[in-house]
Amino acid sequence: MSDSRVAVHDFALFGAAPAFESILPVGQLYFPSWERYEAAFRGIFERRVYSGHGPLARELEARLAEFFRVKHVICVTNATIGLIMAAEALELHGRVIVPAFTFIASPQSLTWAGLEPRFCDVDPISHHVTPALVEPLIDKDVSAILAVNLWGGACDVGGLQVLADRRGVKLFYDSAHAFGCRVGDTPLASFGSLEVFSFHATKVFSSAEGGCICTNDDALAARLRRLRGSSGSGTTERAARSADAPMSEAQAAIGLMSLEDFPAIVARNKALFDVYRTGLAAVPGLRLLEAQNVSATNYQYLVCELDEPAFGLSRDGLLQVLKAENVLARRYFYPGAHRCVPYVDALPQYVHALPETDRLCGRLIQLPVGALVSDHDATRVCELIAAAQRFSREIGARLSPT
Ligand SMILES: *Cc1c(COP(=O)(O)O)cnc(C)c1O
Repeated sequence: MSDSRVAVHDFALFGAAPAFESILPVGQLYFPSWERYEAAFRGIFERRVYSGHGPLARELEARLAEFFRVKHVICVTNATIGLIMAAEALELHGRVIVPAFTFIASPQSLTWAGLEPRFCDVDPISHHVTPALVEPLIDKDVSAILAVNLWGGACDVGGLQVLADRRGVKLFYDSAHAFGCRVGDTPLASFGSLEVFSFHATKVFSSAEGGCICTNDDALAARLRRLRGSSGSGTTERAARSADAPMSEAQAAIGLMSLEDFPAIVARNKALFDVYRTGLAAVPGLRLLEAQNVSATNYQYLVCELDEPAFGLSRDGLLQVLKAENVLARRYFYPGAHRCVPYVDALPQYVHALPETDRLCGRLIQLPVGALVSDHDATRVCELIAAAQRFSREIGARLSPT
């Protein structure tokens, strides 16, 4: 591959055959074999319990509580619903500080819950919110901080808790990227008042769709279970507003198999990460991000920061080159939540107020990892990127002819 690209017309973008016959995605897509899936589903059909917080959903909650070493795990339909329920159960009001450098579901969950996001910038190195960035935004209208743990790393969870306690605001986490990560000896799950995880198919731990809320607070857990609703959930008291968001038995069955497979999934992601680390080490202007502030990571996403002057081609130019080769790398996150609807119109004061968020949104590129990517594929992606860098001037000139 690297050998065959001796001229700019050897790239698929300029007419050559693509490097990959089928598309290489960025999602994880680790699923159990059809045989295991079929056996689990036979059980569901024999019991004739398909929903209603059935035996598999209860078993998954118990196993996850052990895995996370947390008192309560409340499984739900997806993480977005979990975040909305969290905002409601925490009895928040007014504004909630949240980074704009996140998936749109983080601020939108606040909007769903009748709250207003107060967007915060992120640290240029760690990409997370920090106590120093959050503190100046706290005023009498702010009732909480919704911090986001990114890329298999974590925020400064200790520092944020000290700040939240000192200023009398609540702290909770969107931990959609953080399944299986640890700070010191403690798994992410028991920091702040609660943490919300996503089990979407593109995440490292999957139940196809799904998510959970983790907390050590008994009263909060009881409120969350009432809010979740569903007959069979073990609560008799009704919530004023119910999310009606239990996890189905079908989801829980996949979740239980994913949990069995989890150590192997992380080992596989780590192996791919090592291939990329080696393959990209010598490419000028491209830096592979290592997980921040954690003692163990899940290698959920492979994200690189591209420095355009050193690389020679823009981030979006590289994306075009890769897309033509059937490598579906993506901009992540792009644009920042503050530049997405509804916030770009409803909260225009943030549009030009978050320079680090905008800078990262213009520089980051997420590369394929997960079940559908072999070591050989990852090596070829690295070679393509190295070749794109070598031909960056010619490619750039062809992409934007003067
Ligand atoms: C995936 C993701 C979510 C949403 O998860 P769903 O389970 O799809 O609702 C929320 N926040 C972040 C940061 C995510 O990456």
